[in-house]
Amino acid sequence: MENCIFCKIIKGEIPAAKVYESDKFLAFLDISPCNKGHTLIIPKEHYVSLNEIPNEDGKEFGELQIKLAKSVMEATNAGGFNLLLNDGKVAGQEVMHAHLHIQPRFNTDEFSYKWTHTKYEEGEIQKFQDKIKEFLQ
Ligand code: AMP
Repeated sequence: MENCIFCKIIKGEIPAAKVYESDKFLAFLDISPCNKGHTLIIPKEHYVSLNEIPNEDGKEFGELQIKLAKSVMEATNAGGFNLLLNDGKVAGQEVMHAHLHIQPRFNTDEFSYKWTHTKYEEGEIQKFQDKIKEFLQ
């Protein structure tokens, strides 16, 4: 994709602080981090959504999340981390090339996820449970 900033990083057209690279995935530091060490994992193929990543690439993607989360923790002495994937404009995705955030967290940081909580009506939770299970098959 010509105007995609992450595709430009993949092609080496703009610089990035890369920490991992394979045939399928690239990881680099977020340029405007919530905390120092904030890292992004992206597929090298221009997929907009996580849902487009082929099943056969899921193993590497999953393993990479675990490995990189550990490395980011160790490198930053973080007390914990958040994994975040904004998928779709409605979910806050600004760069339309799928990416997973690994965000190191500290007792002293002022970063937080705040959301309002909703409630299920009587019997509604089972309908959602059944529907999600149906689509999993
Ligand atoms: P999102 O809101 O989930 O789409 O997040 C996009 C992320 O990409 C933001 O955290 C940006 O700081 C980050 N970002 C944008 N441009 C660059 C860049 N050139 N290098 C590294 N990170 C970037």
